Amino acid sequence: MVPMDDFAARTADRVISECRGVSESEAMMLMDVPLEVLKNEAGRITEACASRKFDTCSIINGKSGRCPEDCKWCAQSRHYKARVTEYPLLSADKLLRAAELSRSKGIGRFSIVTSGRKLPPRDVEQLCESVRMLSERTDISLCLSAGLLSEPELETLREAGISRYHCNLESAPSYFGELCTTHSQKEKIDTLKAARRAGMEICSGGIIGMGETMEQRIELAVVLRETGVKSVPVNILAPIKGTPLENEPLISEEDVLRTIAIFRFILPDAALRFAGGRARLSKRTTLEAYRAGINASIMGDMLTTAGADMDADFALIRAAGYSL
Ligand code: SF4
Repeated sequence: MVPMDDFAARTADRVISECRGVSESEAMMLMDVPLEVLKNEAGRITEACASRKFDTCSIINGKSGRCPEDCKWCAQSRHYKARVTEYPLLSADKLLRAAELSRSKGIGRFSIVTSGRKLPPRDVEQLCESVRMLSERTDISLCLSAGLLSEPELETLREAGISRYHCNLESAPSYFGELCTTHSQKEKIDTLKAARRAGMEICSGGIIGMGETMEQRIELAVVLRETGVKSVPVNILAPIKGTPLENEPLISEEDVLRTIAIFRFILPDAALRFAGGRARLSKRTTLEAYRAGINASIMGDMLTTAGADMDADFALIRAAGYSL
C-alpha cells in the first residue's frame, strides 16, 4: 500500500472505532489521497457510523422576493438583477397542500424557507398559526428556515410544531465576508445556538463552488461540527444570471466527490444532505456520492432552481444500499 492510501485507511479505521471525526489538520492531509481510495474509505465510515436509512426532505419557498441582504450567490437579493417571482408569506392552505403532496411521495420532512434577513414579527405570528394547522393535519416533520430569528420567536415556533431550524453557514469563516457584507457568519451561528436552546434540532451546511479553496471547505465542515450540527446540506453552486457569481466556473464532479468524502471523515455520523445544484451531476457521480457519504437529500425542486427527478433519485438511493 502506498503511504497516502495507508494513511487514509488507518484514519478511517480510527474514525470508525470512535465514530469521532478527524482534526482539521488530518482533513487537510486527506486532500492528497487518491480520489478512489478516499471515496472507498469514506464509504466505510458512512456504512459504520451514519444512518443507513436515507433521510429525505422537501422544501417550499414560503415567501419569495426582494431581500435587503447582499449574499452574492442569491437570486433573491435586491442588490442584483436576477429575476425571481415575488410573493408574500404563503397561506396555511397552500403550505398544507404542499406538505401533503410531499408526504404522499414518502418524504419524511417538509421545510418552509422564507427570503429576507429574518421573518418579521407579523409573519412569525401568521406562520405559527399555519404550523399549528399543519401539525394537526399531517404527520410530516416540520422544519423552518426563516433567517436570524430571536430565541423567543424560535421558542414560539417550536411550540407550534417546528422541530428543526435551518440556517446555512454557507462557506468558511475565512471566506464568508467576501460573499456577504450585510450580516456576519457569527449572527448565523448565534441563531443556530438559539434554536438549540429553544429545543430544536439544527440543520446547517453550505454552498461549494463559490470560489473557495478545499482548505476553506474543510474549515466550514469543522465549524459545523463545533456548532453541533448533525444535518448538513451540501449545495453545489448553480451560478444564476444577474448575481455576482453568474460567471463562476462550475466545479468538477471529482471535486464534488472529494469534498463529500472529506466531509464524511470530519462528520462521521451526520446526515450529509444533497441540496441545490446536484441535478447537473451524472448518474454515476450521484451514485458514487451516495456511496461515499451522502445519506440524505432534499428531493424535488429547490428554491430558485429545478431539482432532480424524484423516482430516478429513489432508484439510485436504493442501488447505493440505503433503505427509504
Ligand atoms: S439573506 Fe437569504 S434571501 Fe436574503 S440575499 Fe441572503 S441568501 Fe438570499
